[in-house]
Amino acid sequence: MSDQGLGLTYNKLEEQLSKNGFSKSFAELIFKKAYRRPTFKGWEDGRMSPKLLSFLEQLDWKRPTILQTHQSSDDTIKFLFGLKDHRSVETVLIPFYRKDTVCLSSQVGCAMGCRFCHTGTQGLSRSLTTSEIVGQYLAAWDWAYHKRMNGTKAPNIVFMGQGEPLHNFDQLKESIDLITDPRGLDLSHRMITVSTAGYLPGLKRFSELGGVNLAISLHSAIEEKRRELIPISKNWPIESLMKEIDQIKLGRKQVILYEIMLAEDFNDSKEDALALSKLLKNRPHMANLIPFNPYPGSPWKRPNDQKIEAFKSQLVEFGIRTTIRKTKGDNIMAACGQLKT
Ligand code: SF4
Repeated sequence: MSDQGLGLTYNKLEEQLSKNGFSKSFAELIFKKAYRRPTFKGWEDGRMSPKLLSFLEQLDWKRPTILQTHQSSDDTIKFLFGLKDHRSVETVLIPFYRKDTVCLSSQVGCAMGCRFCHTGTQGLSRSLTTSEIVGQYLAAWDWAYHKRMNGTKAPNIVFMGQGEPLHNFDQLKESIDLITDPRGLDLSHRMITVSTAGYLPGLKRFSELGGVNLAISLHSAIEEKRRELIPISKNWPIESLMKEIDQIKLGRKQVILYEIMLAEDFNDSKEDALALSKLLKNRPHMANLIPFNPYPGSPWKRPNDQKIEAFKSQLVEFGIRTTIRKTKGDNIMAACGQLKT
């Protein structure tokens, strides 16, 4: 198998170059060619010697292969990407008014077993490598670049696909370092959101990710209900979760997004809204209500629009900044919690 090319951080690329007898200074040109544009146009360049060109061609720059695409009625695209070991992951491209957002996967399957999530029923196969995470992004952007009006702009990123990103911390960090490297893709950290089910060992290292946005799958401020939805939360009760979150230094105007999956007659009562308000009121927050997206065999129902609005009004009345996430891609099983390979 050839050595890794795609996914090498700048420092690692410099090391590879000097180990193989080339000047480190080529790293900048290589980064530009590999990451600045979504479509890779080849290495040909008058500044590179034939020896360097053949060295680069031997490295593995291959992105995950698009095996299938499904387009929903709202133009959300779900990709099924094939990996080198014949496993596969799903990635979702979500259209917004000005630019798209890519929902990236960080693992094949997931170990967290959240009960409202289709991926959680699948168990963890393995974590993705930096190359696979960055490759998903480039391949999705490349697709959009050729097929979408907004495609020329580099999409925002949410790590809300398959897997618990903080459970694959080192590769996540390396991917974010690479994606934000000014010599390459140059995305700002604020264009990236990492969502976690509250995996505390990873959350303790969150500041290493350099100012990206944090989204917490909270779902309920009532311990027993949260535990029912997220079984791993029994290891890290809400109190210790919030203690850890309170340590995170936020930028100006930055808030933490608290995701509340709303299921009918489970966590949509006045009591639930009151508990949430007590927990979030004096913290920098934005509550994001996500109406439950059913999947085959799921135990909950989605509340109707009236109930969702009523829950939002209660939270707002209690002083909580609240939005309702517009569900996208649910008719192709690409909405939150519906991914499964
Ligand atoms: S919601 Fe996220 S953390 Fe929970 S099982 Fe699904 S993919 Fe894993």
